[in-house]
Amino acid sequence: MKITVLTLFPEMFSPVLNESIIKRAQENSLIEFSFVNFRDFSTNKHKTVDDTPYGGGAGMVLSVEPIYHALKSIEGNENALKILLTPQGKTFKQATAKELALKEHIIMICGHYEGFDERVRELVDIELSIGDYVLTGGEIAALTIIDSVTRLIPGVLGSPESYEHDSFYTDSLDYPQYTKPREFMGMKVPDVLLSGNHQEIAKWREEMKLKKTTERRPDLLKK
Ligand code: SAM
Repeated sequence: MKITVLTLFPEMFSPVLNESIIKRAQENSLIEFSFVNFRDFSTNKHKTVDDTPYGGGAGMVLSVEPIYHALKSIEGNENALKILLTPQGKTFKQATAKELALKEHIIMICGHYEGFDERVRELVDIELSIGDYVLTGGEIAALTIIDSVTRLIPGVLGSPESYEHDSFYTDSLDYPQYTKPREFMGMKVPDVLLSGNHQEIAKWREEMKLKKTTERRPDLLKK
């Protein structure tokens, strides 16, 4: 899979993408990232990419032209899925991550400042938000999506078992996990997990998933 990010701040990405699982996924050629700074596509001599809003008001608005030209410069942009990051988009969920993990090429556009000229919306296929709050820019939203999508690409986590029981993979939360020691400050590992009976363990885990989801996220069960 290929992910191209349009951003004014490409340096924000490397500390996150060059560590741990995502670093390994790149080394194993399972994912490839590239960055396009749309400031390079500014047509004025000061290389500005934003301007004051028509109608007045605070802050600066990103212009449509540099974003348009930056998009067009990307090889294969016609066939790529183009995503605009915006708090006004559809909320990003695990189900969205599953769908995106099947794509060959995704392009993400990160806004900044007061946001972008409304006409940028015409250049994309979908708009995504990572939640009902406002960030200073789309970079952290893009990283969030990249992280959750990358771990679902076949081969990145070894086997699908590594993520199929995760919270939200189906409409439930994950079951409780324990590791050594068997007892810590009076808190014990449930006996069933030490029993070696795989059928009983699987049954217990399903029950715990349901219990946790009922207690913490009953809205998921209503789905
Ligand atoms: N004025 C805009 C609004 O209320 O819709 C918010 C602009 S925000 C300060 C700047 C940029 O950060 C946005 O254009 C978007 O790219 C990104 N951003 C902020 N919050 C986000 C969120 N929850 N999900 C995705 N992107 C977000």
